[in-house]
Amino acid sequence: MKCPNCERAELTETRENYHYQECGLNSVTLVGIVVRKCPDCGNVMPRIPNIEGLHGAIAHALINKSERLIPHEIVFLRKYLGWSGADFARNMHCDRAQISKWEHGKVEMSKPYELLLREMVASGKKIEDYQRHEAARKKIFKTRSLMLQLQEKSWKEAA
Ligand SMILES: [Zn+2]
Repeated sequence: MKCPNCERAELTETRENYHYQECGLNSVTLVGIVVRKCPDCGNVMPRIPNIEGLHGAIAHALINKSERLIPHEIVFLRKYLGWSGADFARNMHCDRAQISKWEHGKVEMSKPYELLLREMVASGKKIEDYQRHEAARKKIFKTRSLMLQLQEKSWKEAA
């Protein structure tokens, strides 16, 4: 495969431990993944299968650590949840300036907020759920008629 960056040289392929800084954390190494490199321009292209699963594994490792979260980890978890700064502020019931202070390490996130964040990651409150929830809330007063039918001693909704 030719290097997509310089379009001059063929990429070489090796299996190695890859320092995954692209995730915004300095502490993540992917063990023995395929890494393509360009001997000409120095372009490095790791092959990372199942990125979503990988980010899930990182998020779960973070919420289970016993030490406090550092600012970069807070940013990672927010992005993992699919939230913008405004989403994060709304879900944490605080203002955006507060979010910025946590994410830039100007103020330490207090323990109850940190536990709330960990809990939201643990319960999988990703943005898709949030949007669905918002949509459901708008229809909260709409009645729904039920057709129930007894089927082998239990009541079930009729098809
Ligand atoms: Zn190149």
